[in-house]
Amino acid sequence: MTIPKHVNSKRKATKAIHGGKLLCADFGQVSVPIFQSSTFAFPTAEDGAARFAGEQAGYIYTRLGNPTVNALEQSIADQESGYKGLATGSGMAAITTVYAAFLEAGAHIVSTDCVYGPSRGALETIFARFGVESSFVDTSDLQNIEQAIRPNTKLVFIETPANPTMKITDIAGAAAIAQKHGIPLAVDNTFASPYLQRPIEKGADIVVHSLTKYINGHSDIVGGMIITKNAELYRKIKPVLNHLGGTMDPHQAWLVLRGVQTLSLRMEKSQENAAKLAEFLRHHPKVTWVNYPGFTDHPQYKIAKCQMDGFGAMIAIGVVNGLEGGKTVMNNVQVFTLAVSLGGVESLIEHPASMTHASVPRKHREEAGLYDELVRISVGCEDYEDLRDDLDQALNKI
Ligand SMILES: *Cc1c(COP(=O)(O)O)cnc(C)c1O
Repeated sequence: MTIPKHVNSKRKATKAIHGGKLLCADFGQVSVPIFQSSTFAFPTAEDGAARFAGEQAGYIYTRLGNPTVNALEQSIADQESGYKGLATGSGMAAITTVYAAFLEAGAHIVSTDCVYGPSRGALETIFARFGVESSFVDTSDLQNIEQAIRPNTKLVFIETPANPTMKITDIAGAAAIAQKHGIPLAVDNTFASPYLQRPIEKGADIVVHSLTKYINGHSDIVGGMIITKNAELYRKIKPVLNHLGGTMDPHQAWLVLRGVQTLSLRMEKSQENAAKLAEFLRHHPKVTWVNYPGFTDHPQYKIAKCQMDGFGAMIAIGVVNGLEGGKTVMNNVQVFTLAVSLGGVESLIEHPASMTHASVPRKHREEAGLYDELVRISVGCEDYEDLRDDLDQALNKI
C-alpha cells in the first residue's frame, strides 16, 4: 500500500491540487473517495461515549462530520490561510450560519450596501423578526463603517468585490476598524476566490464563500464554506451549523474537490479574457461605461491592486437605451449563456434590472448602483475572439 506524501506548499496552484487529500489516503488512491454514509459505527459503547464527549477522534454522523467533507474543508481553509473550514449546503447557508452565530435579539450588524441580495434579504426579512438590527452602508468608504458601528454591533460583514457593481472595500482597513471595536469581521470572498484574495491574511476573522461559483467552477453544484482565522471562532460557529443543519453532502463535497483542482488554470484564463474584453467594451459605441477593477480609473483601483493578486473576471457594463438595450443584448447573445450565477468555465450574462433585481423598486436599485442599463458579465474560459465577437454582434442589435 502506498500512502501519498504530504504536500506542504505555500503556493496557490499546488495547494488547490493537493489540499485535504491526505485525510482520506488509506489505499494510496489519488482522488478522495466519496464516503457516502450517513452514520459511522462505534467499536464499543465506551468509544461512542468518548467520541460524543470530544475525547476521541472519529466520525459519528455526517451532519457532524464526514471524511470527504472534511477533506474539502481542509483544502479550502489551507487555500484561505485559515484555521479550519465548515462546509455548507449553499453559500447562503454559510452566510446565515455566520449571522446566527454572532447575532442575537437586540444585536446589530454593519454590512455592505450592495451585498449579494439574499445576504441582505435574510437580515431584513428573517433576522429582523428575531430582533436583529442591520445597517447597510457603502463600505468602500471606511468612514461609513466607523460611523455605522453602535454599542450593540456584533458583526461587520463585507463583500468585496461586491455584486454586481464591482465596488471594492479595503479589507485591512475594515479589519482595523472592527478590531478596534472588538467586533469580528466577516468577508464574502466569492467574487475573488482564494486564488486572487485571502482576507484572513489582511486581518479578517471569517471568510465565507459560495463554492457554487469559482471554487467549484463548473456550474454543476450549489455549496458554501465558512473559514475561520482561529480555533475559538471555529468552536463558536461549528455547533450553530450542526444545530441549524445547513451542512454539506459528501457527494457534493467530492464534486467541489474535483473542481477546485483547476482553480488556478480557470482563474488565469478567465481573468485574461476579462481584461481584454473590458478593454474592448470600453471602446464600444453601444457601451456607456465599464466597471472593472483592473482599470486604473476604477475608483478603488489602488486598493484592488494592493489586496488582490489579479482583478478577477467579473465585469459590469452600461448599455445604451437602458432597460430595452439590456434586454436586447440578453436576447441576442449566442456564446454567452443568459443565466444568473457566475464563476463557471462558461461565460454567463445577466441583466439585474429585468431579472434578479426586477422586484426591487427603481429608487432602491439605483441607490445600490443597479441602474437599468447595467449588464453583468461573468467571463469564462472560452476563446477570447468568440466572446468578443458575440458581445459585439449582440450590442450592435440595440
Ligand atoms: C451566489 C452568491 C452567494 C450565495 O451562494 P449560493 O451558493 O447561491 O447560496 C453569496 N454571495 C455571493 C457574492 C454570491 O455570488
